[in-house]
Order: sequence, then structure tokens, then C-alpha cells
Amino acid sequence: MQKVWTEKRAEDFLGKRIPVARSIIVKDTSQAVKFAKKYPVVLKIISEKALHKSDIGGVKIAHDEAELEKHFNELSKISRRKKIRAQILVQEFVQGRELVIGINKDPVFGHVIMFGLGGKYVETIRDVSFRVCPITGKDAESMLQEIKYKKLLYGVRGEKPVDMAEVKRILIKVSCIPLTSRKLKELDINPLMASEKGVKAVDARIVWE
Ligand code: ADP
Ligand code: MG
Repeated sequence: MQKVWTEKRAEDFLGKRIPVARSIIVKDTSQAVKFAKKYPVVLKIISEKALHKSDIGGVKIAHDEAELEKHFNELSKISRRKKIRAQILVQEFVQGRELVIGINKDPVFGHVIMFGLGGKYVETIRDVSFRVCPITGKDAESMLQEIKYKKLLYGVRGEKPVDMAEVKRILIKVSCIPLTSRKLKELDINPLMASEKGVKAVDARIVWE
């Protein structure tokens, strides 16, 4: 029987290994306001029945307390209307370019790690590279070099390059997870936000065998 860990649980698991955005599941707006010491914050609908949260309008950015309350109520409404018994997550906003890291258990190769450009265009662009887990520093470097639009990471139009050393460190770390978690079937970190200041996961999902 396969078991799915939605965002909060998957991120708590990953948070012991790599940097992950601060977040909390909230029951009401006062809890959300208390968490949001700095704006903007991101509100998300969390449900096993909502695989792609943004497809159902389930990801919202709040720039102040009033917006936070408005979005909280909207997400509650979506959850009721769609009957998906969702929870609401409040998460720190993280600036950066969107990357993706995934792991899949292949029947022939075993655990395979994928790296590439992330976000909502990931399926359309498919600019990714693969290696068998676990990987070395050299593998991490060549995975980066295989990305066709890697220029985006080095920065275009005056942008600063993202922290490449940190991206590679995280890739190696993630590739080692199956060593201790043999029953990992799928891991999806999309996006991993990368900037010159650092790298943080803001969405994750795990499927266990
Ligand atoms: P899903 O993939 O389920 O639709 P995500 O959590 O990946 O939902 O959010 C969708 C998009 O919203 C992301 O690709 C990113 O552009 C943006 N986003 C999500 N969380 C954050 C965050 N904490 N900070 C900044 N942007 C975010
Ligand atoms: Mg996502």
C-alpha cells in the first residue's frame, strides 16, 4: 500500500536534511497572523486530494494582515466547496529562481535523482538531468552543467548568480536520503527557491512504498 505525505509532513522530514521554508498549519486567522511576523507570507491549501494546489487557486500571497484574513477565508471556502477536507498552511515567502529536485525508484536502476529548472513550467520545458543515487560532488557539478538554460542560474540582465555551491550541497544531501529511507518511492521538491542568499524548499511531496 502506498502512502503519501503532503506538503507539511514532507517538508518537516526534509527540514532535518536541507533548508526548508518556515511554515505552520493553522486552524484560524489569529493563529495565521501570529505566525506571520514578516510580510509577505504564502497561504496554501493542503489536501491529499489536491495534488497541484495552484490549479484550484490554492496558493495565495498575503502582503498584510487584511489580505491574510481574506485569503484564509477564500481557501476555507474552496475546501468546503470542493469537499477536500483541506488544511491551511502559512509559509514564509522565499524569493528566488525556481528549481526542481526529484527522486524516483526505478525497477532497474534503483533510486534515481532528477535536477532541473522548476516551477509551473517544469513539465513544459523539461530541462532536467538524472543520476543514480547517491551522487558525488563531481556528479552534482555535471548535473548542473547538463541543464540547457543554466545561464538562468548564473544570472541574466544583471541578476546575481544563485548560490551554486549550496545547490550542489543540497543535491548531494537529497541523493543520500534513499540510503536510509529504502522505502522512498517518489520525492518531489518543486520548487526549490535559489538565490544569491541561499536555497530553500517551498513545496514538497513524498510517496512511500
Ligand atoms: P503546487 O505545486 O501544489 O501548485 P506550490 O507550493 O509549488 O504549489 O506553489 C506554486 C507556486 O507558488 C510555486 O511554483 C512558486 O512560484 C509559488 N510559491 C509557493 N510557495 C512559495 C513561497 N513560500 N515563497 C514564494 N513563492 C512561493
Ligand atoms: Mg509545487
